[in-house]
Amino acid sequence: MESQVYLAKLPDGATAAEQAAAIGKLYDTAGASAVAAKDFVAIKFHVGEGTNITRIKPELIRELVTKVKNQDGLPFLTETSTLYKGERHNAVSHLMQAHRQGFGVDAVGAPFIMADGLAGNTEYEVAIPGEISKTVKVAREIISADAMLVVSHATGCITTGLAACIKNLGMGLASRMGKMRQHSAILPQVDSEKCTNCHKCMKWCPEDAISEQNGKAFIAADKCVGCGECLAVCRFDAVKYDFGADKGFLQKAMAEYAYGAVIGKPGKCFYFNVLTNMTKDCDCLVKSPTTKMVADIGILASSDPVAIDQATQDLTAAAYGHPLGHLAFPERDSTIQIEHAAKIGMGSTRYKLIEL
Ligand code: SF4
Ligand code: SF4
Repeated sequence: MESQVYLAKLPDGATAAEQAAAIGKLYDTAGASAVAAKDFVAIKFHVGEGTNITRIKPELIRELVTKVKNQDGLPFLTETSTLYKGERHNAVSHLMQAHRQGFGVDAVGAPFIMADGLAGNTEYEVAIPGEISKTVKVAREIISADAMLVVSHATGCITTGLAACIKNLGMGLASRMGKMRQHSAILPQVDSEKCTNCHKCMKWCPEDAISEQNGKAFIAADKCVGCGECLAVCRFDAVKYDFGADKGFLQKAMAEYAYGAVIGKPGKCFYFNVLTNMTKDCDCLVKSPTTKMVADIGILASSDPVAIDQATQDLTAAAYGHPLGHLAFPERDSTIQIEHAAKIGMGSTRYKLIEL
């Protein structure tokens, strides 16, 4: 089946106001029907790590908040805690970071509510028709929301090649344990040089997988379930996780988690991919890269999360010779996530592009 993907073209270096006008037009054209009066509407996006300034601009989010309010909906901004240790590692730091990045309630008109609770472990188990997983652990407040608008900044990604809609949903809306499961081809290890033997991880590990050996923490691989608690509680950066292993598994697992985040809301989710400031690295990078890889294209919108990522790849390929994921990391096959999402029934790689 062919999906519809809408494109609002933008000039290179378009202002935040121009981008906001474009996303508003796309919403009016194709997205407003996902929202009904009194709906709790989750607006999912990445606020940008550290001092990253190539992230989504607050003006775009404010535009969507205003549109939803005009329909008598109840919008809120949402995200989940990261596995890695940064400004978004728990709810308190994440909300402060959102405020610093311009997403405070005064600026955008809606509150920020962490979807996975204070420490990233508030979750809900969702059944999916996956090949790797039959159930996935999704951040709980996403399940409570009636509708969702997903705004994804299209960039490269060191682990998955492409960071766009599927990654924003799959990794971005999984609970901490869900994120660890996606990375479960590899398990955490303790850096004995940094470990102070404080025993905190041993106290928190739900599987009793960590014990003291030779005055340091040691993780028993046969007991570990990859929940990520030790990663979160260690204050000495002694728990390590190799995010670089097994790209194919990671992308497929991520696509299945993405499906789990939206499978319960047919017709109630709408997606935007912002093809501006397309950098090699994703917005988790602390400092913005000084140059974007290619000139801006515009903003895509669709009710199909697979088609919108396929269109993102196709538009950059048409303009610059290679799909965005390949431009960023030619050694990664970024098509895996899109093809697997289509295979399990999340959407279609076939689409019709409609230019506004
Ligand atoms: S919490 Fe960190 S420093 Fe403390 S014992 Fe565990 S690994 Fe070592
Ligand atoms: S990931 Fe979870 S189960 Fe594994 S060692 Fe860490 S706390 Fe224990």
